[in-house]
Amino acid sequence: MLFLGFECTGCRRFYPPDLLYCCSSCGASLDAVYNYERWLASLSAEEWLFRPGEGVLKYRELLPLRPSASPISLGEGNTPLLKIRNISNIMNIENIYIKNETVNPTLSFKDRAQAVAVNAAADLGLSDVICASTGNTGVAAAAYAARAGLGCLVYVPAGTPEEKLAIIRAFGAELRIVEGNYGDAYEQAAREALGRGAFNLTSTYLNPYSIEGHKTIAYEIAGAFGGVPDWIVVPIGAGPLLSAIYKGFRELRLAGWIDRLPRMAGVQAAGCAPIVKAFEAGDADVAPWDSPRTIASGIADPLTTYPADGTRTLRIIRESGGAAIGVDEGDILGFRECLAREEGIVVEAASATAMAALVRLKEQGWLDKGQSIVTVATGHGLKDMAVSTI
Ligand SMILES: [Zn+2]
Repeated sequence: MLFLGFECTGCRRFYPPDLLYCCSSCGASLDAVYNYERWLASLSAEEWLFRPGEGVLKYRELLPLRPSASPISLGEGNTPLLKIRNISNIMNIENIYIKNETVNPTLSFKDRAQAVAVNAAADLGLSDVICASTGNTGVAAAAYAARAGLGCLVYVPAGTPEEKLAIIRAFGAELRIVEGNYGDAYEQAAREALGRGAFNLTSTYLNPYSIEGHKTIAYEIAGAFGGVPDWIVVPIGAGPLLSAIYKGFRELRLAGWIDRLPRMAGVQAAGCAPIVKAFEAGDADVAPWDSPRTIASGIADPLTTYPADGTRTLRIIRESGGAAIGVDEGDILGFRECLAREEGIVVEAASATAMAALVRLKEQGWLDKGQSIVTVATGHGLKDMAVSTI
């Protein structure tokens, strides 16, 4: 097994594999570590980037899991990298691609994390999972828990799209709707998980197992693109998706299969933009956002009780030479409609922020002519049609 355990992102203390969420010394989030030397001893780039098979567990050497004869999967991952055609002409920006995560089994990128999570739950001997969710995590957790035969309890804030609630119920999960925002749901889920001894799959940086699933997006992009795009543009709440993709590219560079890293752009709705605010102010730390107001419910995370998660993402954005970009509600709706009408891709509002951000990146002088850009379409629009103008 190449998975060694976790390292604290604050004080660097090492922890062997166990039911862990954060550092018991300093409280910072954890990051999975592996024996990379052993990984590289037996592999070529071709074998890794074009590995046959379905599901993210085909990359299990670099996932925090024990070998298993019968891993749980719904065939997540292997999503297409599509070159944008008509919107490129409209925006006068060449070389835009979409990593279309909307075609995952439950229609969002969260399936990658939940596939890893339910297998980790089996490794840890846990029979119940709990999460707070703005919808997509809850749907994915409920589906994978059903497949794995685990009990599943999902906390969502009031105002979560009805489509997402219906799907969570359809998978047989227990649903609790919390009066308040995502931060309130987060606190209740955390309390209940501790009380029950259940695995908390909330998709901030809280669960150091599940977030590793997201880095498989980097492996797939490098294979399909044939190298490293100049920019990866990612909608972010707390931002574990962004940091995991960057980690995936760092692993490929460590292997010597790529010679540089992409610049990472994190996108938030201007009505809930704690990371963008800190980035623009030049602050080292992210502060919680007072009252989130945006139709992009999937990334409406005020970071109320865990602003350090935002700080971890901010550090990675800066380390990559990237940017944090805020986009307004009109642009989110406009690009959601535009993606459907011009490219045939229906995304949820949170995903449309990535495309809207390209206009801002260009205006602010971040993009050089001819640079390649991959935007991540995180979730399908069918789960959030009420805000649609399509
Ligand atoms: Zn620590």
